[in-house]
Amino acid sequence: MSEPLGLFGGTFDPVHYGHLRLAEESIAHLGLGGVRWIPAGQPPHRGTPQVTAAQRLAMVRRAVDGNPRFSVDPAEVEAVVPSYTVPTLERLRRELGPDRPLVLLVGADAFAGLATWHRWRDLFALAHVAVSHRPGFPVEPASLTTELAGEFAARRLADAAGLRQAPAGGIVTFAMTQLAISATQIRKLLANGLSARYLLPDEVLDYIQTHSLYRNP
Ligand code: ATP
Repeated sequence: MSEPLGLFGGTFDPVHYGHLRLAEESIAHLGLGGVRWIPAGQPPHRGTPQVTAAQRLAMVRRAVDGNPRFSVDPAEVEAVVPSYTVPTLERLRRELGPDRPLVLLVGADAFAGLATWHRWRDLFALAHVAVSHRPGFPVEPASLTTELAGEFAARRLADAAGLRQAPAGGIVTFAMTQLAISATQIRKLLANGLSARYLLPDEVLDYIQTHSLYRNP
């Protein structure tokens, strides 16, 4: 069986070092061949982002540029209809075949909301889920809804080696460097004319400044 491929979806509004460390550390922790970044088009779970999907995609491209283990999937941004994770995974399965282990990477906050996703139970037939720790969001059954806690208990793998033994269906957790950075915090700083430097790559900050993004609260 070929190396598991990480899939990392998000709004990335804007992409920051929390995202980059999650993707980078997941490769070693989970034994991934690489990570495919999938910026969301029209996010179904949140209000209209302040910048266009094309601009968020451009920022992700700048952030991951030069890392041979990272690739960017623009399909959700280019789609005219709202993006949902399960249809995206179905598309990737068609592209990559039934056997390659796919690992959906999510932070603990995103995982806690999984049971609200469109067709969420179908997800486990298509991919594994790897949950990274994030400051302020414990990964423990007590903090999950009953139905998600049930899936978590039933599907939890003892370690990442289990990701290679099936193409989909397991849940693992992994500890990453804890970075209490959020895109919300960055948007607020920029809207208030404050520095967001060192929270995200300079290449992304340059793009934000060149295009005068996030200036209005
Ligand atoms: P916002 O503040 O706008 O909600 P965000 O910073 O949470 O954004 P998203 O694009 O919503 O960023 O997140 C994409 C994925 O990255 C999610 O699975 C989220 O849990 C994870 N993530 C984001 N920031 C961190 C972080 N600092 N540490 C760990 N995981 C993170």
